[in-house]
Amino acid sequence: MRFFVAMVSHETNTFSPISTDRGQFEARDLRYGGEILEAYRDTGTCLGGMIDGAAARGVTLVPSLAAAASPAGRVLKSFYAETRERLLADLRAAGPLDGVLLDLHGAMVVEGIDDGEGDLLQAVRGAVGSVPIAVTLDFHANVTRTMVETATLLHGYKTYPHVDMDARGREAALRLADVAGGRLRPTVAFRQPPMLPPIAGQATARGPMRRLYDLADTMERRPGVISISVFAGFPLADIHDAGLSIYVATDRDQALADALADELAEAAWALRREFLHTALSVKDAVARALALDGRPVVLADIADNTGGGAAGDTTGILRELLRVGARSATVACLWDPPAARACADAGVGATVSLAVGGRIDPRHGAPLAVTGRVRTLSDGRFVHKGPMCRGLEGRLGTTAVLDVNDVKIILISHRWQTLDPEMIRFVGIDPAAEKLLVVKSSVHYRAAFEPIARAILEVDAPGLSSSNLGRFPFAHVRRPIFPLDDL
Ligand SMILES: [Zn+2]
Repeated sequence: MRFFVAMVSHETNTFSPISTDRGQFEARDLRYGGEILEAYRDTGTCLGGMIDGAAARGVTLVPSLAAAASPAGRVLKSFYAETRERLLADLRAAGPLDGVLLDLHGAMVVEGIDDGEGDLLQAVRGAVGSVPIAVTLDFHANVTRTMVETATLLHGYKTYPHVDMDARGREAALRLADVAGGRLRPTVAFRQPPMLPPIAGQATARGPMRRLYDLADTMERRPGVISISVFAGFPLADIHDAGLSIYVATDRDQALADALADELAEAAWALRREFLHTALSVKDAVARALALDGRPVVLADIADNTGGGAAGDTTGILRELLRVGARSATVACLWDPPAARACADAGVGATVSLAVGGRIDPRHGAPLAVTGRVRTLSDGRFVHKGPMCRGLEGRLGTTAVLDVNDVKIILISHRWQTLDPEMIRFVGIDPAAEKLLVVKSSVHYRAAFEPIARAILEVDAPGLSSSNLGRFPFAHVRRPIFPLDDL
């Protein structure tokens, strides 16, 4: 068997002032052809799982392209159009195919195209006719009926932090082989209860998403069920279909798919208030963290999560740390390419005075003037230790650690969420030895930081990934929807 494989991945925060252009994809990942297989084999990613699953079934993969950028504003139409054309050209040149494997996000918004993945899937379906198409989608996918109807099977991540990407990729490849071999004939059901859960309330270790997945996991073990995904959705994409959705795939049993999807949608609706989330004010969080015994205490800057499309350059917590004279603290990481460059130019050991942060997202805080010593410099390359993205190379660009009275600011040049303590270790700081660790992440940091943290405090600082959805000027999401409307 021969499967075509490609990845196009972006989570779009339509409130972000950063547009997502070619440079943003090049900074994260933009590869073509066989190089994809070399880069992703044996990594904790969907492509890693797809490569593994295909090998297990003796399937030959025909690689096309991998394009991913850090979450930010709408993807430029020109870049999207060029990427779609290239993928379609690869499909036409691929020869006879038994299946198509796509690693997509599900919350990509392109300039002028609200349903990016729906548009791409329609184009692929048009090119391949009746060849089955299997798609992995992020837990934060804003799934649309177009995606459901054009793909043969969708496989959503079941975890947040996303630690099952490789498992979902493998599953997608195996089930696609079953469909292509005539052993499965999927019948699917899709439900969209009027819910827009905030990001910080979506973690799967506990809370409402755990309960929904416990129910879904039980259902998935029933005979005739192929797979079930409960997508929490990405609330900061202001499009019609944003929010939670349910997808159930069964084998030749539409009635079963419908019944299970209805039951899950009702369960989600009943849990809607449990998704609501509150965090500590900046002052309270810093004071409480300093008063705690033991180390490290993690202060989660959940609203400035680049993984949710925020800038990653707000200074609210840093400002408070310096105001109260905190010591043995690390801020990981602040996106500020000019400041990182200035530190690199000054050199290790130099004392520099400069403004950091607040450049891109001034609505959520101003730049902060600091004087400190350049402690370390790096080209920003490291390897993720996991559990998330295990084995994948990270590229933060020119990176500097600026030490301001023992508050160490890690300045990076490429936006990337602080989801791995390795992003602190690789610049010579032992995260376990610090009293305070500020991490710019909503939930993903938990997978690797919970095991080393004495305590974790979530902070309600200003930012574009805030879980206080009432702060955003929604205009396009379908209404009424909870919690924007009190249903
Ligand atoms: Zn996600």
